[in-house]
Amino acid sequence: MKRIVSSVLLISLIVSCLCSCANQKERYTETYLEYFDTASTIVGFEFDAEVFDKNCDFIEAQLEEYNKLYDIYKSYQDVNNIRTINKNAGKEPVKVDKKIIDLLDYCIELYKTTKGKTNVALGSVLSIWHDYRNMYSEDAEGAKLPPMEDLKAAAQHTDINNIIIDRENSTVFLSDENMSLDVGAVAKGYATEQIAKALEEKGITNYTLNIGGNIRTIGPKGDGTPWITAVSMSDIAGNGENPVKVELAGQAFVTSGTYQRFYTVDGVDYHHIIDPETLMPKFDFISISVCCADSGLADALSTATFNMTLEEGKTFINSLEGVEAMWITADGEIHYSDKFSEIIYEK
Ligand code: AMP
Ligand code: MG
Repeated sequence: MKRIVSSVLLISLIVSCLCSCANQKERYTETYLEYFDTASTIVGFEFDAEVFDKNCDFIEAQLEEYNKLYDIYKSYQDVNNIRTINKNAGKEPVKVDKKIIDLLDYCIELYKTTKGKTNVALGSVLSIWHDYRNMYSEDAEGAKLPPMEDLKAAAQHTDINNIIIDRENSTVFLSDENMSLDVGAVAKGYATEQIAKALEEKGITNYTLNIGGNIRTIGPKGDGTPWITAVSMSDIAGNGENPVKVELAGQAFVTSGTYQRFYTVDGVDYHHIIDPETLMPKFDFISISVCCADSGLADALSTATFNMTLEEGKTFINSLEGVEAMWITADGEIHYSDKFSEIIYEK
């Protein structure tokens, strides 16, 4: 009798094990290279590939739409985007999709939260840096810095109050003809957040959206364990090793780094984040990573803290509920906000 009972137990154990194996979600990935001028990688755990493919179709359609709307460099047929608003500065209000108005509302709010350290109306200054970077990125010998008088003249046209939003008619008007919008600090993270929220509303979980390094996790991995991601430190480690890894389950993790876009003048690397006060890049950090629930906020804060000192940035981040950050200073030192240790993966 004892033997029969143990055999039955053994068989039921094997059956339940087989069932749970069949019930396990599998890991799928997809990469797109067409959006936001970067690689977008989707990782998802699903029971079958078809569901993953269908969800990727949805994500790709959203990426395509947000990319067109938030583009400052390209025009698209039948779409009024940020570039259309810039081209009509001082001329007339432009009718736009609500997704543009929502982004600009968010940027204006962030201007206040970050005490002006991220300014979506800084386009006139940023476009000068962009042009010099493009002009000299292949020509380290002849590379020049933008003349300060040009930057100062452009800075006269960066007043965020000159963005006139008419919500009722869904229009945006830049009342200063020499101003322009640059949404580069926030748009990718904000779009990623909207897509993640749409997926969550559909009940989708166990996904990660990695849009050019803007990471937004939706739930944990398929087996319920957190996602592990490494902080990019190839710049200082030199050997591609990543000594800091973090665990994520539902949060965003976004890094701004000097190595992402820069050009070299007289041996000095000038990166793409510009301090609105000095109109120059700051050289205090190699990268700053921010972790919080919202990827739009993480994107904005990783850019904003670049324009603060380490102490200012720490005080600022520690004052925000549910936001943690990690700084790698120019000399390779690593600093953390008060509770960053809670997300460090140490195994
Ligand atoms: P990120 O890679 O998210 O840190 O964003 C960098 C991009 O944000 C730059 O390439 C510019 O397009 C834009 N940007 C740079 N400095 C600022 C600033 N002070 N305020 C707003 N946007 C900025
Ligand atoms: Mg950013």
